[in-house]
Amino acid sequence: MFAWTEQQLMIQGMIRDFVEKEIVPLIDDLEYNGLPPYDILRKLLKTFGMDELAGTRFDKQIEKEEAIARGEEVEKPTPKTTDDGAVSAEALDAAAMGMIPIIEISRHCQGLITAMGVSVGLTGGAVMSKGSLAQKKKYGRELLTLEKVGAWAITEPSSGSDAFGAMKSTARRDGEGGYILNGSKTFITNGPFADVIVFICRLDEPGVEPRDRKIVSFILDSGMQGLEQSAAFKKMGIGSSPTGELFLSDVKAGPERLMGESEDGYGRSGAKSTFSLERSGVAAMALGLVQRSLELSLEYAKTRVQFDQPIGNYQLIQLKLAKMEVARLNLENLVFRYIETRAADKDLTLAEASAMKLYAAQAAMEVTTEAVQIFGGAGYMREMRVEQLMRDAKILQIYAGTDEMQIVAIAKDSLGRA
Ligand SMILES: Cc1cc2nc3c(=O)[nH]c(=O)nc-3n(C[C@H](O)[C@H](O)[C@H](O)COP(=O)(O)OP(=O)(O)OC[C@H]3O[C@@H](n4cnc5c(N)ncnc54)[C@H](O)[C@@H]3O)c2cc1C
Repeated sequence: MFAWTEQQLMIQGMIRDFVEKEIVPLIDDLEYNGLPPYDILRKLLKTFGMDELAGTRFDKQIEKEEAIARGEEVEKPTPKTTDDGAVSAEALDAAAMGMIPIIEISRHCQGLITAMGVSVGLTGGAVMSKGSLAQKKKYGRELLTLEKVGAWAITEPSSGSDAFGAMKSTARRDGEGGYILNGSKTFITNGPFADVIVFICRLDEPGVEPRDRKIVSFILDSGMQGLEQSAAFKKMGIGSSPTGELFLSDVKAGPERLMGESEDGYGRSGAKSTFSLERSGVAAMALGLVQRSLELSLEYAKTRVQFDQPIGNYQLIQLKLAKMEVARLNLENLVFRYIETRAADKDLTLAEASAMKLYAAQAAMEVTTEAVQIFGGAGYMREMRVEQLMRDAKILQIYAGTDEMQIVAIAKDSLGRA
């Protein structure tokens, strides 16, 4: 894939219209005045039939898993490749459909994508890939359609980049098959509003070195006794994505809440596959930020006159614009690569996803910062919006693993292969 098809461009146009009519007028309320993002996101899903599609996919998956549980033969999935091994146009369209809204919304309000991605992709995705059949049936549909808001909680005050090693939250076996959960989580997207929380912690295993203890996960419901959800933090950017803390004090969780209903259900490797998923989405978010920064910068460079000439006539400005276009092209190609990979039903390795995230986050930060520079003093004013793009871009270098941790992951993988 090297370009969007006509069909994909048509969908892009429809989503762009929706964003301009429905989201742009709400940006100040979403970013600065605490309007929760979920209703507008639900409206987006409904308008484009994405909630219905998610529901249908959910039904099919459950039907299949129930048949397998009954010991029945199930139909093999239809191959996504054509007879000559190429990826089918239908599969490409379906994968592109996952990326287009991310790009379009990030052009104006990247936080909405963070909130939706964590709820549907991370929380819903974790339940649907690692939950037991009963857990999928109980939580899956409502998470995938955003009827319920999900949060995925690993980070703690003393464990960020060293997410597993320094983790202090614990699950203690209660002797009756259940667990007592304690600990606190911070910087949790959707934490203040989440209905369902995937809580990742360490099994209290007496006699085992704390760092070596098993990592386990629980599916918790808002309102459980001993579970407290903080108000949203005030942040530099992505104000439309509420971020908060979770406090657990002797929360009783029955065995039916243990992810996969097994102490081996969703530990280090499960969480690592989630890292891979969240890293991949960053290229599409960065593309949205870069596209919009470039458009605004080009327009300004043509119209802003200094020393009797449009500033676009100056080579120093041209260099900035040219570098922005290079970044836009590179990011679009990364997104195309990701679409093809998904369409072929393959996954990026963690190192590939890390490389993609590292480049995308740095490119978005560089381009949005240069956009502010091109706008001069006006760029520093909220009215011009480029300053919001810059603040929104910064988070891409921090969450889902900092730039430094992506470098570590890429280097480790490269050295391992050498
Ligand atoms: C807006 C927002 C939303 C978030 N959403 C979620 C969420 O939904 N769920 C969740 O669980 N978490 C979430 N996080 C947490 C996020 O993933 C962490 O903030 C991130 O992983 C970094 O951890 P930290 O903040 O503790 O920084 P630290 O790990 O303390 O890092 C501080 C600095 O040290 C560097 N550093 C650390 N270790 C090394 C090393 N070995 N080598 C070189 N440099 C190193 C880091 O790169 C960084 O520059 C969110 C964070 C933010 C800001």
